[in-house]
Amino acid sequence: MDGLQFREPDAARCVGCGALAVGPCARCHDPVCGDCCVLTEGSAKTWAVCLSCDASGGRSLAGGWLVVLQWIGWPILILLLVVIVLSWFFK
Ligand SMILES: [Zn+2]
Ligand SMILES: [Zn+2]
Repeated sequence: MDGLQFREPDAARCVGCGALAVGPCARCHDPVCGDCCVLTEGSAKTWAVCLSCDASGGRSLAGGWLVVLQWIGWPILILLLVVIVLSWFFK
């Protein structure tokens, strides 16, 4: 009997309520139980996302992709501005 082992590796606990998790969230991969996740209809598969991901991104996974595009888009815009400013300086 190993009394020091409090966390069993394959018995993940829900991040919302601490109950036994049924699977990871499709977005943040935190373990969630059946009560703390919502089913999201994706393109070919039904995803389960936790309530905090559902609140931040809506029921579609497309919301997550928009965030990714924003993170890629802003550095490109900033780079473009730098190139324009530099071209003014070195005319
Ligand atoms: Zn839960
Ligand atoms: Zn999540």
